[in-house]
Amino acid sequence: MTTDAIATTAGADGGLVPAVLEVDQLTVTFKIRTRPFRPKQQVTAVNQATFSIARGETLSLVGESGSGKSSTGRGILRLVPLAGGSVRLSGVDVSQLSTAELRKQRRHMQMIFQDPYSSLDPSAQVRDSIGEPLKVHEHLGGQQLTARVAELLDRVGLPAHYMSRYPYEFSGGQRQRVAIARAIALQPRLVICDEAVSALDVSTQNQVINLLEKLQDEEGLSYLFIAHDLGVVRHISDRVAVMYLGRIVEVGPAERVFESPAHPYTVALLSASPVPNPVIQRTRKRIILAGDLPDPSDPPSGCPFTTRCPEVMEICTQVMPPAVEVAGGGHVLCHLYDHVPPPVTPVAIRPTEQPVMHLDAVSPAET
Ligand code: SF4
Repeated sequence: MTTDAIATTAGADGGLVPAVLEVDQLTVTFKIRTRPFRPKQQVTAVNQATFSIARGETLSLVGESGSGKSSTGRGILRLVPLAGGSVRLSGVDVSQLSTAELRKQRRHMQMIFQDPYSSLDPSAQVRDSIGEPLKVHEHLGGQQLTARVAELLDRVGLPAHYMSRYPYEFSGGQRQRVAIARAIALQPRLVICDEAVSALDVSTQNQVINLLEKLQDEEGLSYLFIAHDLGVVRHISDRVAVMYLGRIVEVGPAERVFESPAHPYTVALLSASPVPNPVIQRTRKRIILAGDLPDPSDPPSGCPFTTRCPEVMEICTQVMPPAVEVAGGGHVLCHLYDHVPPPVTPVAIRPTEQPVMHLDAVSPAET
């Protein structure tokens, strides 16, 4: 096990705060068959992703399906093998740990999935599902285990007697609360929420998000929030990272990214996100990107966005753009800023103003 000094990262307010998670040049590859009867090909799902998350901070990862968001989350937890790079949790390089050491570290990083059935055994009572990590890591049993499960259910807004129920007896929102209770049972430092609210209706979504924020305030949890709903992302994030074809093409404080997106892909993504104000919705400019995400087994040369970018230039197809610092915070990978520092959002694709989505207060867990 390697333990070094804990690095710092820029917090949402620009000050330096200790980094809980440091991801450096993370690369994840898969061998998949892209066409029937053809040999398997190597696909780079995550290409040198680099970012950090501070204690109590929420960093959201956004991008289209297939952009590499979930593979990044799974790579951090080493649920998939890493092809390169490192992942440090509170200074511990988890990418170098043996299986036994990794098992011990896993208590500090947990994942909440879109479908709670992925983490809850449908044939087990909730007491056993929530209690399993407590049995394994803290060797609890009997009354002690029952008391801890009751306490965890209370923290996620569910009554203690629900512990004798099975997952199928809950609504979608309640099942996600049970999954959250299991995720926080060992008081982790980092929770990866992989589309954790995407399958819920809007009001249930709001309640689960408010619950996540309450738990973050109480325990200083750090979240990597993987989502495609930009309204939710805007509400919950301190910082936002935008992924395209396995690369993080823009990262920065949420307010800066939403108010002054620098990368043409971010601008297009934001323009496609509906806003609750019908007047703005009617008048705002929508950027329609041509074509689909390129085949990841045969990515374009130079900038990965060349095949769909409305601003593409000759250099884009030849040279990968370097990371350029953005004045309002963060970085962008785009040749538009080789000579003109961002944030100069390309006028031709500047989006109209988007209002912040406000969520309701936490309400009882009858969802
Ligand atoms: Fe578009 Fe070129 Fe910038 Fe890539 S580098 S996003 S192709 S302008």
